[in-house]
Amino acid sequence: MKISKTHPRYESLKYRHRLVEGLKKGYVTQSGLISHGRGEAFDYLIGEKTIPEAWEAEKAAVALMLLSKDPVISVNGNTAALCPKELVDLAVSLDAKLEVNLYYRTLKREKLIERILKKNGAEEVYGVGRKANKVVPNLDSDRSKVDSLGIWASDVVLVPLEDGDRVESLVAMGKKVVSIDLNPVSRTTRKASIAIVDNVVRAAANMIRLAADMKGMDREALKSVLDGFDNGENLEKTIRTMRQDIS
Ligand code: ATP
Ligand code: MG
Repeated sequence: MKISKTHPRYESLKYRHRLVEGLKKGYVTQSGLISHGRGEAFDYLIGEKTIPEAWEAEKAAVALMLLSKDPVISVNGNTAALCPKELVDLAVSLDAKLEVNLYYRTLKREKLIERILKKNGAEEVYGVGRKANKVVPNLDSDRSKVDSLGIWASDVVLVPLEDGDRVESLVAMGKKVVSIDLNPVSRTTRKASIAIVDNVVRAAANMIRLAADMKGMDREALKSVLDGFDNGENLEKTIRTMRQDIS
């Protein structure tokens, strides 16, 4: 289907179309479409743009990931459909690994997502097939299966569109978790070490830009960016901004 660029909801239709294509190819799930709809509703409330609080969280997240020893970006069906190139470029910018992690895990979906990431320039993709050989404790879904060389060994995990319970389990393992979720009151957002309330498509693009600027900073300067960020306060401000944008 060809979407006219002059359509007032061109961007939104473009991303919906990508998800529908992903569904047809078999790596996006039906419930993934529902999750996207929930995200769209929240995106509307913030004017479909990156609000200042999200930008601050993205900056802190980039600082944290540049400071970390072994960062990993978790990829699911929706994010592979929406912005695979951005996720690969972000992984390169942050020297991070990419790992497939799915709620509805099948080898077919894992391999399709691996192929998409590789087509977009990824050299190595973690968490596919037998490589997902470790189990995150206290987590009752296929989301618990992780790669011993990827999320299992990581110190920071970036989780776009995640389940609240996995965030909690990863934090309990001693990891820092950065979430990207448009819902400012989801369990995911509430449990994350740094919560980014933005569309994953914009957040990934912003973080690539930030990483390019911040790569030259020394560790002390990165630490002061991180120390200057208060996640709880930032979330409160996010909700206030959302309220103001509606009225
Ligand atoms: P909880 O986090 O409270 O456990 P959930 O994970 O069960 O909730 P879902 O609807 O399955 O809720 O998760 C999808 C989440 O991802 C929603 O909170 C939605 O706002 C968010 N989301 C969907 N699409 C995007 C997107 N493109 N960018 C950012 N967030 C998105
Ligand atoms: Mg969630």
